[in-house]
Amino acid sequence: MFLSIPHLFDSMKFERRDILLIVGLLLFMIGLLPFMAPVYAVVIIIALYFVIKVFVARRRQSIQKDVGEGICMECGSKIFDKKCPNCN
Ligand SMILES: [Zn+2]
Repeated sequence: MFLSIPHLFDSMKFERRDILLIVGLLLFMIGLLPFMAPVYAVVIIIALYFVIKVFVARRRQSIQKDVGEGICMECGSKIFDKKCPNCN
């Protein structure tokens, strides 16, 4: 628990491309303002931000998992269960 806290902060850290995400979301929020109360627009934007952050973190985890499984030296396919689906 104690060790996982810095790890959590590391995975949630602010990245440069988050600025692009925030700018895009702010423009989207401005687009929403004529249709709803500003409070709802802000809530939707904050929810979208966290959904996108979680989606990106999960996709990154699955990419790391793929790299961890490795690639076949014979044909370059991804390894599943320590076996190549083409060669074994
Ligand atoms: Zn193979």
